[in-house]
Amino acid sequence: MAQRVIIIGAGIIGASLAWHLASAGAEVIVLEHEAAPRGIATPASWAWINASWGNDPAYARLRFAAMAGWRRLDRDVPGLHVNWCGGLLWDLQGAELETFVRERQGQGYDIRLLGRDEIMAREPNLVAVPDAAALAAGEGCVEPQHAVDCLVAAARAAGADIACNSDVKWLEAAHGRVTGVMTSDGVLSADHVVIAAGAGAVKLLGGLGLTLALDQPPGLLSHSEPAPELLKGLIMAPELHVRQTAEGRLVAGTDFGGTDPGSNPEQAAAELHAKVQALIRGAERIPLSHFTVGYRPTPRDGVSCAGAVPGFAGLTLAVTHSGITLAPAIGDMLAREITGRGRDPLLAPYAPDRLLTAKS
Ligand SMILES: Cc1cc2nc3c(=O)[nH]c(=O)nc-3n(C[C@H](O)[C@H](O)[C@H](O)COP(=O)(O)OP(=O)(O)OC[C@H]3O[C@@H](n4cnc5c(N)ncnc54)[C@H](O)[C@@H]3O)c2cc1C
Repeated sequence: MAQRVIIIGAGIIGASLAWHLASAGAEVIVLEHEAAPRGIATPASWAWINASWGNDPAYARLRFAAMAGWRRLDRDVPGLHVNWCGGLLWDLQGAELETFVRERQGQGYDIRLLGRDEIMAREPNLVAVPDAAALAAGEGCVEPQHAVDCLVAAARAAGADIACNSDVKWLEAAHGRVTGVMTSDGVLSADHVVIAAGAGAVKLLGGLGLTLALDQPPGLLSHSEPAPELLKGLIMAPELHVRQTAEGRLVAGTDFGGTDPGSNPEQAAAELHAKVQALIRGAERIPLSHFTVGYRPTPRDGVSCAGAVPGFAGLTLAVTHSGITLAPAIGDMLAREITGRGRDPLLAPYAPDRLLTAKS
């Protein structure tokens, strides 16, 4: 009989897990508090798929696997269409930029230095062209809502049940094993439960007497009105990361994680958009449309948290920053682990125990 797995949360991590688990033959039920699968952090994300950021060798390897995972999903999930537009980075300069490129190349990352002419040829609408920038040609981005929609549709096609407006109030546990969840509609039992609830993991684990060391820094992104194509790829300039969405909007933060909204988010968004207009020729005619503020679920030591929860058989936790980049790897590796195919060595450093303490 198929293993029955409940996934709590339908952001990018829950959606990826749902597809991977359903494809592996599990009976999957996704319970999502909101009215539609979307996530909370996910739709507010800059959604850069990369291994530029996070350079500890083990973490870089996980991110490489995740980038390869997006290529696999691009092939296997109908309609997904990842935008493999490449990333152009010069928020480091001079010797620092050269060292950055050399270190990444040493890890096997597809990245190289470009001079002014090559930069201008690649991005002809830059107003101030730097002397040098790093091009990571294998980077890309997704539109987060579209990616969730495609993964959820593919998971449904593989047999998953996605139940929205379904709040998980607590986890049912007995004799050191999680047996199901209590929802607004009553108890649902399962062989295995996965918490893919982003920041909501804190409350769910709290109900089991566990404290999760998780931060939730805010990040504001400005979104312009749609524009004709002004950028070829992702831009990581000093104090300004900007990309153009599939719809043509220029989406920017002081870095990919967004700007501190401070006490006046409207002003922060207007200042950000003014920087975009100063950097990109043609953007001066494109008005600001709106801004978003998202809260990044960020394990306190800055890397991912994915694996079994100690002391509770049948319970897995998946919470991470860089969740857009990492979703295919975390979804695939945890699906293998949950269906009895062993723990992927790439996930070994990211077991949840290091971030969990018993509540006093
Ligand atoms: C401004 C910003 C920029 C970012 N930029 C990048 C980037 O460039 N690249 C990158 O890789 N990552 C980036 N990230 C991080 C990335 O977006 C997150 O790591 C990722 O979206 C987390 O996804 P998630 O599915 O874990 O969480 P979420 O998207 O928050 O989804 C969790 C879901 O669980 C549901 N839920 C919670 N509790 C319950 C409950 N009790 N019952 C039922 N449902 C529940 C919620 O309703 C929600 O739908 C950025 C994030 C932000 C905010």
